[in-house]
Amino acid sequence: MEFNTLNDGNRIPKLGFGVFQIPDPEVASQSVVDAIETGYRLIDTAASYGNEEAVGEGIRNSGVARGDLFVTTKLWVSDTGYDATRKAFETSLRKLGLDYLDLYLIHQPYGDVYGSWRAMEELQREGKVKSIGVSNFQPDRIMDLKLFNDVTPAVNQIEINPWNQQKESVDFLRENNIQSEAWAPFAEGQHDIFNNDLLTSIGKAHDKSVGQVILRWLTQRGAVALAKSTHRNRMEENFNSLDFTLTQEEMDQIASLDKKESQFFDHRDPAAVERIHGLVRHVD
Ligand code: NAP
Repeated sequence: MEFNTLNDGNRIPKLGFGVFQIPDPEVASQSVVDAIETGYRLIDTAASYGNEEAVGEGIRNSGVARGDLFVTTKLWVSDTGYDATRKAFETSLRKLGLDYLDLYLIHQPYGDVYGSWRAMEELQREGKVKSIGVSNFQPDRIMDLKLFNDVTPAVNQIEINPWNQQKESVDFLRENNIQSEAWAPFAEGQHDIFNNDLLTSIGKAHDKSVGQVILRWLTQRGAVALAKSTHRNRMEENFNSLDFTLTQEEMDQIASLDKKESQFFDHRDPAAVERIHGLVRHVD
């Protein structure tokens, strides 16, 4: 596995395995085992995915040493604020069956994220989490968080895929030495992405699949790519995406696919903010 170095000195694998929308505990646990056996070392979950226990079981069953893995989970909106964050962190750690996290992220830019950040800075100082970061933050929100606090986020996990390339955010993060991490790299298959003509023809030139081309395009842009699959053959396919290089011309061609809008929802839309505030509570 290849790594990037974060602004706090810790290393993060360039490719990760995500477990969003795997509600069945047996499937989630087995997927984590399969992914780790395939070679993935970064596992990305969240309190709101409801599968932290299953992910922990998969980690234990994989037989790979804890120190060789990079485990991320995320704080949900209803647990923001200093006290709630300290409590939610311990709940996540207990569910995962771990005694430290590699990366803890504020999942959404809503609620008392400033109180949360103070708790997360403290957890990092105590050695309970190695790196702290955010998710779905726009550049202006990151800049404010950074200027108002001691620790600059190490990571911002955002939607990045060929339909929503997030050039402004990716450039901003690079300039500010914050690692971009791509969620929904395949836009969850929307607009028939796996059969796109351009991505298919670029893949043919390298004897690679569309999925592999997309993941390589992301890692060549400097992002950590999170791929999710419950199928072992796809896990392997996605994992084998670092052993070729797209040309500048191919990178430019892929840039032309940008629709410049989220394939899911706009995090700045007040109706979306209201809907997300109403979702899930952290269950003890
Ligand atoms: P995604 O990775 O864009 O797409 C996953 C879908 O693609 C699944 O339906 C999977 O199907 C399919 N797939 C995977 N590899 C494939 C391949 N090689 N060929 C054909 N189909 C393939 O979407 P995502 O799961 O939403 O995003 C990835 C990860 O990002 C998540 O698991 C999660 O960890 C993270 N995430 C974070 C946020 C956030 O707000 N921070 C939001 C969404 C996701 P099968 O499983 O059936 O193979």
